[in-house]
Amino acid sequence: MSAAPSLTLARVERHYGDKSGRVDVLRGADLVVYPGQSVALVAPSGAGKSTLLHLAGLLEKPDAGEVFIADAATSTMSDDARTALRRAHIGFVYQFHHLLPEFSAVENIALPQMIRGLAKAEAQSRARELLAYLGLAERATHRPAELSGGEQQRVAIARAVANAPAILLADEPTGNLDPRTADHVFGTLTTLVKATGLAAIIATHNMELAAQMDRRVTIRDGLVAELD
Ligand code: ADP
Ligand code: MG
Repeated sequence: MSAAPSLTLARVERHYGDKSGRVDVLRGADLVVYPGQSVALVAPSGAGKSTLLHLAGLLEKPDAGEVFIADAATSTMSDDARTALRRAHIGFVYQFHHLLPEFSAVENIALPQMIRGLAKAEAQSRARELLAYLGLAERATHRPAELSGGEQQRVAIARAVANAPAILLADEPTGNLDPRTADHVFGTLTTLVKATGLAAIIATHNMELAAQMDRRVTIRDGLVAELD
């Protein structure tokens, strides 16, 4: 691809524990993701999927190696600078939606925008646009408890992209859903990636869903390996 990468992991290492019980989760992993590209991360439980996503999302620091967001090296940045970069460029979706229970769908999606300084009216207007785009216009004023599991995850996806991030990281976002709903939620994700030019990494156990992504990678011996 000719475009510059959105995200680069270069020789990334992450180890947990000490000498007595050391776990080498990543041992020099490389991964480059381009704008508009969706990557399925398919690996068994405990292989290091969440660790990789946390490193890519600047929630953790590698023990060695470098994480680049666009062309910015992040390991020597201050925590404040990393947080600002994360808020501006990265959206997260987790297995459980983590929506705030006392707020409506529209308010949940507006919040990250308001944290970044947008006025409430503007933030809610974009939130409503996103909900409409995802087929959830009728659910705008519902609280999470009044939404189905699939709807909750689609609202969580809308929240993750509310600030128009360049990178979307999803950690088993459909792990909690029945197959048909998972398919629908995955469709939402892939549509968004194509429509917005997002770079996306989606950890999943579902090979059928992974097959719909542009690329499939796994973690083997602490390295990222391409599948197929
Ligand atoms: P996955 O998401 O693929 O299931 P994880 O990235 O959560 O895998 O975990 C990879 C390995 O690292 C596992 O062996 C796990 O027990 C270990 N691990 C993850 N986080 C920590 C931590 N904070 N402290 C110690 N070990 C951890
Ligand atoms: Mg995990």
